[in-house]
Amino acid sequence: MSRVYNFSAGPAALPLEVLQQIQNDIPDWQSTGMSVMEVSHRSKEFVELAARAEANLRQLLAVPDDYSVLFPQGGATMQMAMTPLNLTAAGDTADYVVTGSWGKKAAGEAAKFCQSNIVADASDKNFTYIPDESSWNRSDNAAYLHYVPNETIAGVEFHFVPGGDVPLVADMSSTILSRPVDVSRFAAIYAGAQKNIGPAGITLVIVRNDLLERARANNPHLMTWKSYADSDSMTNTPPTFAWYVADLVFQWLKDMGGVEAIGLINARKASKLYAAIDASDFYTNPVAKDCRSWMNVPFILADSALDATFLEQSKAAGLTNLKGHRSVGGMRASIYNAVSEEAVNALITFMAEFERTNA
Ligand SMILES: *Cc1c(COP(=O)(O)O)cnc(C)c1O
Repeated sequence: MSRVYNFSAGPAALPLEVLQQIQNDIPDWQSTGMSVMEVSHRSKEFVELAARAEANLRQLLAVPDDYSVLFPQGGATMQMAMTPLNLTAAGDTADYVVTGSWGKKAAGEAAKFCQSNIVADASDKNFTYIPDESSWNRSDNAAYLHYVPNETIAGVEFHFVPGGDVPLVADMSSTILSRPVDVSRFAAIYAGAQKNIGPAGITLVIVRNDLLERARANNPHLMTWKSYADSDSMTNTPPTFAWYVADLVFQWLKDMGGVEAIGLINARKASKLYAAIDASDFYTNPVAKDCRSWMNVPFILADSALDATFLEQSKAAGLTNLKGHRSVGGMRASIYNAVSEEAVNALITFMAEFERTNA
C-alpha cells in the first residue's frame, strides 16, 4: 500500500485510521452480516449510529441544547437556496458579505428568493482581503446576515465573528471542526462534508430551533429544515454510507482531543507553511496577513513557467493535488484536519528543495 500526501481542496483527505476501519467493517458491519450500505436506515444499528454521530458532533462543537443538528443531502450549495427559503418571506431582505466565490454564489442564489443585499464585496482585489466591518453597507431590516468564514478558493478566513443583532448564517464548509467556534453566536451554520467531515453526499446544518418556524409554507418537504429536525434527518432515505463515515470521523476527532487539540495542530501547520512562503522570494501568498486561511493556503511561484514542473515533481514526490484554482493561479495546499503535520513538513521540505534547484 502506498498513500500520498493529499492536499486536495475537496473531496479531501480522510484519516487513514478511518479508512482502515471502513475496510474492516465493509463485509460485516456490527455483526449484521451486511455492509452498512445494505442495512435499513431504520434498523436499530443505524439509528444508534445516527444518534451517536449527532451526540459526538454536539460535544465536539459544544452545540447548545436549543439548536437542531441536521444531516441533509445536497451539499453546501443546496443550503445556499435553503437558507433564504427557510429564513425569509418573498420580498424580505437578506445581507450578504462577499469575500470570495462561495459568498458570491450564495448571494446569487438568495437573489432568486428574496432581496439579496451585498454589504461588502472584496472582488475588487480578487478576494484577497476582508473589507473592514465598519464599512459594510448593512440594511436596517435584514432577515439575516450571511458570510463565509473560510473562502476555500482564495484562502481567506475570518478570524472574528461579525457583530450586530441580525441572525448570522455561516457557510463553514471548509473550516468546520478545524478549531473551536461559539455556536451560540450563529442562527445557522452549514457545511458540505467533503472537507472536514467525510465523503461528499451528506451536509451538516446546525440551526437555532426558534428559526425553524420561519420556513415558507410552500417549500418542498426536502427543502425545509424543520422536516429534518422533526424526523432525525430521516425525512427520506438518508445518505447512509456518508453518514457512517462522518460518524467515524467525529470519533477520530474526539480521540485526537477534539477541536481544541486539532485547532492547535492546525494553527501550527498553517503558521509554518506561511512562514516558509514569507521567508522566500520564490513563493508568495497573495492574501492579507490578518485573514489568511488555516485550511487553504494558495502560493504563487515567482515564475509561472515553472508551475507545470512544480506539479510534476511534487506529484512524483508523493505530494498531490497542489494545483491552484484557475481564478488564483499557482498552487494551493489544502491542509484540513486529516492532513497531518508530517504532510505539511514534507511539503515545506519539497518547496525549499524545488526553490534551491530552480531559483
Ligand atoms: C466546497 C464548498 C462549497 C460547495 O460545497 P458542495 O457540497 O459541493 O455544495 C460551498 N462553500 C464552501 C465554503 C466550500 O468550501
